[in-house]
Amino acid sequence: MSIILVDKDTQSLNDLKLLIKGAGYQDVITSCSLSEALREADKGDDDVTASNINLILINLSSEEIAQECFTLKEKNAFAEIPIIAITCPNKPIPLQTLLESGITECISDARNEIEIMMRIHSVLTLKYEIKRRRALERNINEMARQLEHSNHMLQLISSQDGLTGIANRRYFDQFLSNEWRRAIRNGSSVSLIMIDIDFFKAYNDFYGHLEGDECLKRVAQEIQKTLKRSSDIAARYGGEEFAAVLPGTDLKGAAKIAELIQENIISLNIKHEKSSVMDCVTVSLGVASEIPAIDSSHEELIKKADSALYKAKQWGRNRIVCWHKSLLDESLKSVESSCNIEGNNFDRQ
Ligand code: GH3
Ligand code: MG
Ligand code: MG
Repeated sequence: MSIILVDKDTQSLNDLKLLIKGAGYQDVITSCSLSEALREADKGDDDVTASNINLILINLSSEEIAQECFTLKEKNAFAEIPIIAITCPNKPIPLQTLLESGITECISDARNEIEIMMRIHSVLTLKYEIKRRRALERNINEMARQLEHSNHMLQLISSQDGLTGIANRRYFDQFLSNEWRRAIRNGSSVSLIMIDIDFFKAYNDFYGHLEGDECLKRVAQEIQKTLKRSSDIAARYGGEEFAAVLPGTDLKGAAKIAELIQENIISLNIKHEKSSVMDCVTVSLGVASEIPAIDSSHEELIKKADSALYKAKQWGRNRIVCWHKSLLDESLKSVESSCNIEGNNFDRQ
């Protein structure tokens, strides 16, 4: 890193160089003009000139030289190089010109060696301090970025089901509760589909736990794939039970999605020799939908979807039952009491 000395007077230039070198600064470039000094600093180095320069000490014998300083400082690469100007008492430069030229410090007596060295020292100390703090700031920014990334990963991990990769129960509860409150505010509906694999214990017993896990993964992914709206989520509710939350969807829409889920899982054609309903893995689905009342809780929706699912199991499995208040009547056990939306009986098998 160089210190550049600029003075038209060769004698004072040499005196200044001796003084500065004597103080221990070895890389000193002297020149009678600023532009020539910059060319000199750039010699033999492919880097940007500015990065090789620590400080410019210039004899400000005319306003033109101040103008040169201004032009230099206007270039981005040079903007942060400190310039110390030595002014001549008999050719004073107007204060406004000095202020506008971007000069950092002014020394009015070229013979005051102590003042010159002390100014150089303090300007360079300040420059190193700024550099050190910038490096520190870069480190802090990098650490903050890494922390943010780790937090994001942690959040992702804590909201994901380890086996299937879809949302876990914790995330489901939080998501449904948020959507419930949003629906209260907007007067919109929220639908919930509870999905349970049929005869999964028998599947596990027959094919083994590892195959069982594989089956859970495929079913989970298929449920997730079936949900097309970005506002919908699929979650593992527990064991071999899954849930789909469909904000802004009414019962009719939710029943259609349930139908798609049921079909898509059958299409996976996962062999299930021990199932009593088909020779592949099937699911039973309970659907519920609400436009929530102000003082209601999302747990009501879970209860309704759950009791619809219970009925789907009770009525033979591999079917969809939509919650309806008639389900509360225990005496109704027939297929007709399941959801019938505009002629579509969603108690399917
Ligand atoms: P149903 O048709 O009435 O739903 O019968 P089911 O056998 O599916 O239901 P049950 O509740 O009797 O059994 C659920 C089984 O799911 C029990 C357990 O072996 C299995 N299971 C739960 N979690 C996991 C898991 O993480 N991995 C595997 N492989 N099996 C699981
Ligand atoms: Mg089951
Ligand atoms: Mg179950």
